[in-house]
Amino acid sequence: MTRSDRPEAGEFSNEVWVLGEDRPCGEISSVTFELSAKARELSDALSSNTGERHRVTALLLIDSNKTNKSNRSKPQDAGYYGADRVLAAKAENLPFDRAACARILAHLAQESRPKIIIASATAFGRSVMPYAAALLGTGLTADCTGLSIEPGTNLLLQTRPAIGGNIMATIKTPNHMPQMATARPGTFSIPAPNPEKTAEVLYPDLPDGLFSAGVSTIKFDKFTRDERTLQDRNVIVSGGRGLRRAEGFELISALASLLDAGVGASRPVVEMKWIGYPHQVGLSGQVVSPKVYIAAGISGTVQHIAGMQTAGKIISINRDPEAQIFNVSDVAICGDLYEIIPKLIERIKAKRGRK
Ligand SMILES: Cc1cc2nc3c(=O)[nH]c(=O)nc-3n(C[C@H](O)[C@H](O)[C@H](O)COP(=O)(O)OP(=O)(O)OC[C@H]3O[C@@H](n4cnc5c(N)ncnc54)[C@H](O)[C@@H]3O)c2cc1C
Repeated sequence: MTRSDRPEAGEFSNEVWVLGEDRPCGEISSVTFELSAKARELSDALSSNTGERHRVTALLLIDSNKTNKSNRSKPQDAGYYGADRVLAAKAENLPFDRAACARILAHLAQESRPKIIIASATAFGRSVMPYAAALLGTGLTADCTGLSIEPGTNLLLQTRPAIGGNIMATIKTPNHMPQMATARPGTFSIPAPNPEKTAEVLYPDLPDGLFSAGVSTIKFDKFTRDERTLQDRNVIVSGGRGLRRAEGFELISALASLLDAGVGASRPVVEMKWIGYPHQVGLSGQVVSPKVYIAAGISGTVQHIAGMQTAGKIISINRDPEAQIFNVSDVAICGDLYEIIPKLIERIKAKRGRK
């Protein structure tokens, strides 16, 4: 497709699209479910504002040569989280051929003319969405932390940090369609699946011209180690500058291992090399959405909160009664973390010992 093939301005359909992610190992990535749920919310808001039914479509780009027969998730699973329809586009070298992925997205979007396309700001989403946006002649707001529908205009409100994270900017795209945005993984919570809700699965025909010459998959090696990232954890225990020394993370890790939790951190302690960057939570680290987030010795600046505010329950330990983190906490423990965490560990062990 060339830029001159772009859709002319005109009517767009009552559709909200999600660019989903199908992992080569045969699993649909959880970001597909996260964004299908968000798209459902946007679509329901549009339906109720306009009185016209809007539909959620999830697009999956699937390797037709996938040899793994033990698929743990199937395209229709996106329905459990809010998709009405799944377009399962199958071809060789997907999803590795990112240029082809972008051309397929643009081609199908040109046919169906959705009003909105959202994707996760993963390596996949970050490479496919800008290319597709350029092909469709529209803009893209990257790394959003909030997406909603503006009453009255029914435009997509795309909120993201700006000016070095010091302000939150809300961006609208009134003159171009589709409105396209990415959100970092974990920005929105994933609801419980609703097995009653099913999605129609369609396998669209793809013209040959969409594929890149010279791209082929040589082999795929699946990780065999426990590769759980912070984003896969139900519980996270994070430490901040209040630990005062690198060894403080031994205490954080002791509590974390008791709770089968991941270890998180604020930025300054990563910068001081007390712990590695993959543990950093926040605006310039990971965005996480665990069921429980425990913050110890973290003050709760806007940049840290941007990374954990969607956690189910936030428990914080800080010796400053005025600490900002307490404003977003479900349980606020005011005191010295070096006294509180050992007591917590003791209590948990004692309780488990009694069972
Ligand atoms: C563009 C940009 C991006 C950023 N990205 C991130 C990011 O991704 N993640 C992030 O975390 N920050 C980020 N920051 C930095 C952020 O602004 C803060 O500097 C940082 O979050 C503060 O970390 P902290 O809470 O560990 O430290 P502090 O703000 O110094 O807070 C330490 C807290 O520990 C408490 N404390 C001290 N001793 C104890 C004790 N013994 N027991 C209990 N409590 C104690 C204190 O009361 C205090 O509240 C970013 C900043 C910018 C400008």
